[in-house]
Amino acid sequence: MERVFNFSAGPAIMPVPVLKIIQKDLLSYQGSGMSVMELSHRSSLFQSIINDAESLLRELMEIPSNYKVLFLQGGASLQFTMVPLNLGKTKVAYVDTGSWSKKAIEEAQKVEGLTVDVIASSKENHYTKNPIIPLVDKEYDYLHITTNNTIEGTVFLNIPTNINVPVVADMSSNILSSSYNVSDFGLIYAGAQKNIGPSGLTVVIIREDLMGQKNQLPAMLDYKVQADNGSMYNTPPTFAIYAAKLMFEWVKELGGVAEIEKINRTKAELLYEAIENSALYRSPVAAESRSLTNIPFMTGKEELDKLFIIQAESKGFMNLKGHRSVGGMRASLYNAFPLEGVKALVAFMKEFEANVG
Ligand code: PMP
Repeated sequence: MERVFNFSAGPAIMPVPVLKIIQKDLLSYQGSGMSVMELSHRSSLFQSIINDAESLLRELMEIPSNYKVLFLQGGASLQFTMVPLNLGKTKVAYVDTGSWSKKAIEEAQKVEGLTVDVIASSKENHYTKNPIIPLVDKEYDYLHITTNNTIEGTVFLNIPTNINVPVVADMSSNILSSSYNVSDFGLIYAGAQKNIGPSGLTVVIIREDLMGQKNQLPAMLDYKVQADNGSMYNTPPTFAIYAAKLMFEWVKELGGVAEIEKINRTKAELLYEAIENSALYRSPVAAESRSLTNIPFMTGKEELDKLFIIQAESKGFMNLKGHRSVGGMRASLYNAFPLEGVKALVAFMKEFEANVG
């Protein structure tokens, strides 16, 4: 069976070694005679899977002991609601860096009694450049940022130091692909389907003192209830947690986040260089804000972009179509996307340019 180069923004490519382990385990997990999908979440076999997943993630991200790791459902989108519901008391601050942060803002605005201030936005430059985040005072319960903007292709690799409230980060599209210092954040959340594994799982890393600040929250939406029940207040997404555990092992084997970040940087630089050195392609994103994981580019002519995507697909470069709000193409280069795939894409880009130029 031929594999393709899958540039999907998510659900995204997974490493073949991980898929092979899943395949091997499928009919009988560790001699149990059952697949992981058929195991009770209360079984000792599953308990050790979730324990391992947590300790591997703690090790990879160097998560301090005063943070809880939660394995939840509902996607990053449910976190748009859970964050303001649990952490918002009177006034919260948001940075608007594009489509996903706008959705986070809209959901926070629905929480009764909460004032939502958008304290910085890159709307004016069409989300092509990070805004400057002003000093944030104690008057806010938290500041929400999106570390990597999957659609627009911008990233905050450094967290501003002038913020005197807990920073909440939507890290969906670059968790584990760049190193961050967890203690710079009050809460980090990420949908799994880019760097962590299959969809259906959301990882939340939360500083303990930020939980349990509000009473009477619906149980499923209460971080404290989820933490007190070891992420098993209800049936957790067992298969996705198992796959996440294998992904964490794979990252660890490659040398951890710092090592994988180096590879990601090489991959991204290769593609940006090809864009910069061509007369045909351009990147809409300001050089200093460019994402390592989601790279939009375009020819400037819709017809040519369409032709590029059709011809690319015929050669096994899949899911390169850009998001409709940006247009053109977008290459998502998550951890599992191989360097050889970027090299092959760059060769194809040159060939395409020579043919249409
Ligand atoms: N935030 C970001 C940065 C995303 O990229 C996505 C999904 N692409 C979401 C939030 C929404 O995630 P989910 O579909 O898991 O709710």
